[in-house]
Formats: sequence, C-alpha cells, structure tokens
Amino acid sequence: MKEIIDRLIEKNRKWVKYGQVATYIPELSKQDPNLLGISICDIKGNKFNAGDWNATFTLQSIAKVPSFICALQDNTLEVLSGKISVAPTADGFNSIENLETKNEKKPLNPMINSGAIAAISMVRGKTLEEKFQRIFQMIKKMAGNENLKVNEAVYKSEKETGDRNRSLAYYMKSTGIIDINVEDLLDVYFRLCSIAVNCQDVAGVAGVLAGDGKSPLDGSVLFDAQTAKIAKAVMATCGMYDGSGEFAVEVGLPGKSGVGGGIMAAVPKRMGIGVLGPALDRKGNSLAGWKLLQELSEELNLSIF
Ligand code: GLN
Repeated sequence: MKEIIDRLIEKNRKWVKYGQVATYIPELSKQDPNLLGISICDIKGNKFNAGDWNATFTLQSIAKVPSFICALQDNTLEVLSGKISVAPTADGFNSIENLETKNEKKPLNPMINSGAIAAISMVRGKTLEEKFQRIFQMIKKMAGNENLKVNEAVYKSEKETGDRNRSLAYYMKSTGIIDINVEDLLDVYFRLCSIAVNCQDVAGVAGVLAGDGKSPLDGSVLFDAQTAKIAKAVMATCGMYDGSGEFAVEVGLPGKSGVGGGIMAAVPKRMGIGVLGPALDRKGNSLAGWKLLQELSEELNLSIF
C-alpha cells in the first residue's frame, strides 16, 4: 500500500497547478496550492501515509458529515426529513436559489451549506455551545485525536466574511426550518468548518464510516450501522456538491470535500481515506486530490458501483 500511494502522489502532483486555492474566505488564500497528501486508515486500524499528509488544513465542509451524523442520532428520520431533503443539487454549495424554488423550501441536502446549518440546529444541546461540543467530540473520537483545535484565524476570517451563510440561515429562519438564534448558530457552523486537521485525522473519520460506525482505531462503537448507511448514501449522492455525479463515475466512493482542500472518502468494509490538495476546481473540490483518488480507486478496484 505504501508503495502504491507514494507512487500515485508523485504521479498526480502535476495536477496541483490546474487548481486555485479558495479566496472567498481570505485566510484560506494563504494556503500552499502545491500540497498533495494522502492517508489511509484500513478497517483493522493500519495507517499508511504519503506526500504532504502531515500538513494542517481546516475541515470546512467535511465537518458536515459528523454534524449530520449527530443530527441523525438525535432525531427520528421522520423529524429530520421534515426539515432537510436528501436530493442532489446541480447548484453550488452555497446557492440560495433552491431554498425558495424547490422542495417545499427545505434545504436540498445536508452536504451543502444550507442543509448543514439546518442539521446543526437539530443536534441535541440546550445551548449552542453544547451542540458545538457534541459535534466536536464526535469528530475527535472519529479522528482518534483528542487534541484537535479550532484554527482561530480561519474561524475569525469566516465569521467576518460569512454573509452568504447568514443569508441562507436568515432565509431558513423566515421559513421555520431554523428556530434558534442565527448568529449563534452560524458561530457553531464557522467553528466546525475551522477545525484544524491533517490527512490522517480525516482518514480516521472516514474509517469509522467504512466500519459502519465502529472505530478501526480503538474498536468503540460511535454510531449504529443504519446511521453510517444513511451518511454514506448522502455522501455518495451529494458529498461533492454539483460534482457528485462525476465523482461517482470517476472515483465511485462516498466522498466529502471541503474548500480547505480536503477530501474524505470511505470504502465500505475496507478503509477510510483522507486527501489534501488545496488547489480547487471550479466547483470547490480538490483538483489533484480528486485525480489521486480516481487513480487509487482504479488501481485497487475500490468503486462501490
Ligand atoms: N466554510 C465554508 C463555507 O461556509 C465551507 C464550504 C465548503 O467547504 N464547501 O462557505
């Protein structure tokens, strides 16, 4: 495995120059576009790392998966599906349009910004700080890393420039999808997006999904198999936003990207994968990270389809 990923990293480095780092969150524009790294955590807990796997980046939209998992644990599916659909989208991850024009005003799915903000509002916790801690603890346990921290500079930058997310959240408050304080809710969303990780942390999170809710690292059961099944189904159909269909064809795995350049992919019953490549394609997915996953999937025959 180590030989394969070392080779694929070197082969796919050429792609980094075709992408761009995110700039709409000013702090993210400081990222190094040339990074490319990968970590794998297999179902037995074996770890393999290559390239810039140890570089730090922020989870961004990858945090939407554990947020959705917590919302699934804390609500019946009936209640949850009354507020959030599980429909793929052909629009960008922060699109406002579909909130008004489609699906009875529900966010289309929990892997785009509107749906994730709604999902966080439904996570158990008397205060928003409790909701944050509940999701943060889930992320730490899945990653197998108790020392994860919020990157304060990225958090501050997101909060200062997050007006698109404010628009989405206030709109959802006006239609009754959200019934709590919008600014406080967004504070939780921004902090979750700003959690600093490396590829190995993300591979750990994905490893729990691959293991149907059981951590490959310490054997603890973090959620049930039904929750894992739903989360992976939504990742497979919606996890790469409007690139999800192409990702299903080219990589064939439940995946979730973030504008920090990370991609998380779960290979059911086999392994979790975390990839970093901050140079993004036009849809906000890591360009070289995608190519790397595509070749790994072909070489190891990982597609679930
Ligand atoms: N924090 C980012 C935002 O709200 C997350 C989006 C992403 O990773 N696609 O815009």
